[in-house]
Amino acid sequence: MSFEIPKTQKGVIFYEAGGKLEYKDLPVPTPKPNEILINVKYSGVCHTDLHAYKGDWADHVPLKLPLIGGHEGAGVVVAMGASVKGWKIGDLAGIKWLNGSCMNCEYCELGNESNCKHADLSGYTHDGSFQQYATADAVQAAKIPKGTDLAEVAPILCAGVTVYKALKTAELIAGDWVAISGAAGGLGSLATQYAKAMGYRLLL
Ligand SMILES: [Zn+2]
Ligand SMILES: [Zn+2]
Repeated sequence: MSFEIPKTQKGVIFYEAGGKLEYKDLPVPTPKPNEILINVKYSGVCHTDLHAYKGDWADHVPLKLPLIGGHEGAGVVVAMGASVKGWKIGDLAGIKWLNGSCMNCEYCELGNESNCKHADLSGYTHDGSFQQYATADAVQAAKIPKGTDLAEVAPILCAGVTVYKALKTAELIAGDWVAISGAAGGLGSLATQYAKAMGYRLLL
């Protein structure tokens, strides 16, 4: 399978924190040796995207500028770098907040890559999913099973994994009670569904 990749694409970019959001023609990025190029079909919008856009966290973690936001992207792999393993053109892939990490520090080795000092963040330090073609580190990009509804899976890539991880690390057993604050919100509504599927009792 191969895809014709255009030179330009549409995307939303801003040049300074809080500046004008411009929907315009942008170059299609070339994947680095370790990256896959994903034709983004759907993207969720996370509250973190608003923090990135406003530069709220820029004093702590410098923001890439100009920046294309977005870290809940679901799409199709259309190209890949020379050292990528484990992916095929045509596979479904997800872009998460953690775009890539060093894979060499204690955090990375213990499966806590989000805490890596060298974490590369989609829609923050790495152009994200608010464009038709986005790059992601092949190790960290999410594998999405064939036949998955990409519109449904997009918000799971941040909101979903956030609460899923919380429920998993709580080390509960079926029948335990779980209290979910903000259960009607974006993350809460997903947490409620996961908790129910895991057999927990819910306090909403
Ligand atoms: Zn998010
Ligand atoms: Zn690391």
